[in-house]
Amino acid sequence: MFDLKNILRPNIAALIPYSSAREDFKGEAEIFLDANENALGSATASHALNRYPDPMQIKVKEKLAKLKGIDPSAIFLGNGSDEAIDILIRAFCNPGKDNIIILPPTYGMYEVAARINDVVVKAVNLDKNLQLDLPGIDSAIDKNTKLIFVCSPNNPTGDIISKSDIEELLKSFNGVIVVDEAYIDFADAESMLQEIGKYPNLVVMQTFSKAWGLAGLRVGMAFASNAIISVMNKIKAPYNVGALAQKLILDALDNSNRVSEMASVLKNERKMLAERLPNFSFVKEVLPSSANFLLVKTNNPGELYDFLISHHVVVRNRSSLPLCEGGLRITVGTPDENKKLLSLLSIFDKKSNP
Ligand SMILES: *Cc1c(COP(=O)(O)O)cnc(C)c1O
Repeated sequence: MFDLKNILRPNIAALIPYSSAREDFKGEAEIFLDANENALGSATASHALNRYPDPMQIKVKEKLAKLKGIDPSAIFLGNGSDEAIDILIRAFCNPGKDNIIILPPTYGMYEVAARINDVVVKAVNLDKNLQLDLPGIDSAIDKNTKLIFVCSPNNPTGDIISKSDIEELLKSFNGVIVVDEAYIDFADAESMLQEIGKYPNLVVMQTFSKAWGLAGLRVGMAFASNAIISVMNKIKAPYNVGALAQKLILDALDNSNRVSEMASVLKNERKMLAERLPNFSFVKEVLPSSANFLLVKTNNPGELYDFLISHHVVVRNRSSLPLCEGGLRITVGTPDENKKLLSLLSIFDKKSNP
């Protein structure tokens, strides 16, 4: 049985969080002399940012909760999903003792965040179909396994991980399963978000960096039981999402129809690229993708990568990852960028088959 008390680090369970000035006093006032801010204003021409932001991002969470159909208390907001990853590791994993399980090929930050925190990383590769190796995961789990990171749609392969497999893990594992849905807005599959009420050990992560087009703002979301979200809030830096970021996220939430509009353009372009790319002789396979990128398996990834760079186009070489032999990960660009990419690939094809 999952019991949060059993897996939380003792020092975190006992932690009394820092109480910021904006937490300490929540009432109405006219003169704020409590936070050592500069009452005169800001050194910027464009924005007044001399006041600390809302540490709990209440307005943003209220609006986001409506959009997602969940309670604001089930939402954590951070400086990108990367902050949520780090906080989850620090909440549950005792350095030098506990471990997490990652499922390569996958997003690199889970492993890096664990290593920074001196937490052991166990890797269980996805199976040939790029799905969970449930028996393999089962035998990797030991009494010190606290977290399993599942990325769906997966980066860099783009495939959706079977929901029933994830649910099987949620039922059998006494630690926390983190489902990273950074790319869910590009998928036809359903989010796991509505399952957080059903599974006390489920954390779903999403981000404003991809479909929302706000990577530069650095805002990520985690959704989970109130109990887990409270722990995350206790650990986070008091003012982890800036005032400008909160303001612009509120603005974006008022324009959420733009997200589906942009996603639909990018999905059409993805379809077009997925149809055209296999026609090149150096392309062995284009993996079906539910994200805004394609993993393209080629005969000569290094050579192709260098050719594209020499024409000022940069893609990501993922060919050294397990199950990604020959793989370049290509982000779907604007229609114009994708056309240019295809014409460069034609030139490369003719060059390699004179
Ligand atoms: C891009 C990406 C993120 C987003 O991270 P942010 O810190 O929110 O920008 C998270 N997870 C995966 C798998 C990603 O590819």
